[in-house]
Amino acid sequence: MAETQTNARSCAPEVARVSILGATGSVGVNTLNVIEQHGAKFSVSALTANNNIDLLYEQCQKFHPEVAVVANERLVDEFSAKFNGSGYKPDIHAGSRGLELAASLDEVDYVMAAIVGAAGLPATLAAAQAGKRTLLANKEALVMSGGLLMNAARTHAAELLPIDSEHNAVFQCLAGSNACDVEKIILTASGGPFLKHPLDELADVTPEQAVAHPNWEMGKKISVDSATMMNKGLEIIEACLLFEKNAADIEVAIHPQSIIHSLVAYVDGSLIAHLAYPDMRVPIAHALAWPQRIRSGVSGIDLAKLGPLEFTEPDRLRFPCLQLAYQVLESGGSAAIVLNAANEVAVSSFLDSEIRFTEIPHVIDAALQHLGHEEVQELQMILEKDQQARSYARTFIEQSVRPS
Ligand code: NDP
Ligand code: MG
Repeated sequence: MAETQTNARSCAPEVARVSILGATGSVGVNTLNVIEQHGAKFSVSALTANNNIDLLYEQCQKFHPEVAVVANERLVDEFSAKFNGSGYKPDIHAGSRGLELAASLDEVDYVMAAIVGAAGLPATLAAAQAGKRTLLANKEALVMSGGLLMNAARTHAAELLPIDSEHNAVFQCLAGSNACDVEKIILTASGGPFLKHPLDELADVTPEQAVAHPNWEMGKKISVDSATMMNKGLEIIEACLLFEKNAADIEVAIHPQSIIHSLVAYVDGSLIAHLAYPDMRVPIAHALAWPQRIRSGVSGIDLAKLGPLEFTEPDRLRFPCLQLAYQVLESGGSAAIVLNAANEVAVSSFLDSEIRFTEIPHVIDAALQHLGHEEVQELQMILEKDQQARSYARTFIEQSVRPS
């Protein structure tokens, strides 16, 4: 991360042109909300969606991007027809090529990488390779690509700024420090909706219960990841890559209030924390304006009304996914690709009520044990391993988990 910080351009563009990958999702919508508050500083060059073409159309009519991309190719004609008779029509593209184009357009300065899951990797990588300021929400892309995305950012002088609230907090807590003075990074975790749920009833929780996060409004996949704490597992891997740390340098603290977003401990005994109300517009505004500051639309914390802030150690029995992430960091190689892919398949099956909540870690563990870990360095190899892990996880669910 130190290198990517020093890639900072000496002055920001007068009006920064932004491409938003995953504009119709929770992070995408929050990004447009911040941009809307600063119409003189930012303009929208490209917006992408997968299935939600109604919202994409509304966003296009409001922000008038030059380019709109519908990843789901079957919906492109329907989307295009919506502009008939309208005075404005963006250049419309489809599929993963369209996403990569939106990420690397010459006229774009900043790319918000906010597609969920592995589907976002090629376009996120394209943004870094095109030297764009890449605002990284799509943690799965970094986790599965490992050094590839970080190296692309370094090689092409792309500023890679974390949007994940914890990593954005760490980035802020590290400002102006020397790497050798950092003793450890402490990622906070809310513990999700099942922090105190009776352990013997976890097998019966429903998708509706799992996506009802106590503090954050997010997409379904990351909400389930927060409930299993695989989200924190992915974030430990993300932190190791972004901040060039080992697993032993990263701790997790359960902090149910989600007010402290993470902390950095220094060798002199100082502990620097980042506090904000839990609203993604805070890290989004930070990364859009960095190294300056702009209003996010979120009020500052009223300390007198805050109440107690609690911290506990995570319960490894309740959250086995956390252990799987540490295991993957130890194995290295392609293990993180397998972990991510199997988790995506398992979460999707849980959301479709095909497997139980408590079976999610079993699917991931089985895939990790079966597929091992080899060295993979190129995008094509990463995508192949991802497909292999998905296919294994689906078969495992069919044969071993799904009730007959
Ligand atoms: P959402 O599910 O709300 O949105 C996902 C976005 O990705 C949508 O625009 C969706 O399109 C698009 N998308 C989904 N599948 C594909 C695909 N196959 N190809 C192209 N586009 C696709 O997710 P979130 O906004 O919650 O999360 C986005 C990313 O940010 C995730 O990686 C998450 O981990 C990370 N993140 C999110 C946080 C949050 O507060 N939400 C916090 C920290 C990180 P459509 O809706 O049109 O189908
Ligand atoms: Mg996070």
